[in-house]
Amino acid sequence: MKQDIANKLGIHLPSPEQRLTLHALQSQSVVVKRDDLLHPVISGNKWRKLAPQLAQILAHGTLGILSFGGGHSNHLHALAYCCHKLGLPFTAFVRGDYRANPTPTLFDLAQWQADIRYVTKVEYRQRENANYLDEIQRAYPGYQIIPEGGSTEMALSGVAQIKCELPQEYDVVMAPVASGATLAGLIQAFADTPTRVLGVAVLKGEAYLTEQVSRFLPATARTAEWSINHDYHFGGYAKSPADLQKFCHAWTEAHRVPVEPVYSGKLFYALNDLLAQGYFAADSRILVLHTGGLQGARSI
Ligand SMILES: *Cc1c(COP(=O)(O)O)cnc(C)c1O
Repeated sequence: MKQDIANKLGIHLPSPEQRLTLHALQSQSVVVKRDDLLHPVISGNKWRKLAPQLAQILAHGTLGILSFGGGHSNHLHALAYCCHKLGLPFTAFVRGDYRANPTPTLFDLAQWQADIRYVTKVEYRQRENANYLDEIQRAYPGYQIIPEGGSTEMALSGVAQIKCELPQEYDVVMAPVASGATLAGLIQAFADTPTRVLGVAVLKGEAYLTEQVSRFLPATARTAEWSINHDYHFGGYAKSPADLQKFCHAWTEAHRVPVEPVYSGKLFYALNDLLAQGYFAADSRILVLHTGGLQGARSI
């Protein structure tokens, strides 16, 4: 079923791996898992997270899907496209009112017949509140509500699929962290292996992010060794100071791996800086997960 949906949407599996040549490398090796190339429209890790959920939704004959996100959301963008192609009605609750100034993301949503509801920032804060969700469910009977970012426990198994595609072992796997579901999926996938999972926080909040990731991991589940680095958020979510933007341009040029400042730019900046600092042990084999997200940066 999952395979059928992937075929129907034109998802290219497995995503390619690309070895990087970096000045900062000594005996280590770096390979990028190019999930940004999974699909020309659907953002990489959003596909990984949505795949198991879409399979279940289609099997259950759900009437439509409703979800939440910001005006540049890679999740809303990916989900709106999937729903459009799969013939499922889709409602997007968007944080803030963009009617006067729609983003490229919201423009695409409208093209794909998404029903866009602009909600105030105050209302948006209730997006995980049980009473609020009951109220929405009553207003949208038969709809499946998917949380912001597509981040559910079910999403973890979709992310874990990445490990099955790898032809070799790695000592470290790196990925950006926002809601933490992607990192949690990797932590589960690499349980019982010597691979260490290293997250790079793209937003401020040390205790918050660690708790977010733990929240997705069932207490009984086995986990890989993992940690989150908090030194590369550049001031917070979607903050992109000039030096980060400069890095993104230079990186894209030098390695032919396009990066944007919200997620992948911070991840590769961290990789480069940690290598230069001698953080990684000699001979470390490092895998860096490019989660995609280039659409979200179109207006930056
Ligand atoms: C949403 C997103 C992330 C963050 O993933 P989480 O599972 O929320 O931690 C990383 N990269 C890109 C490109 C994203 O769109």
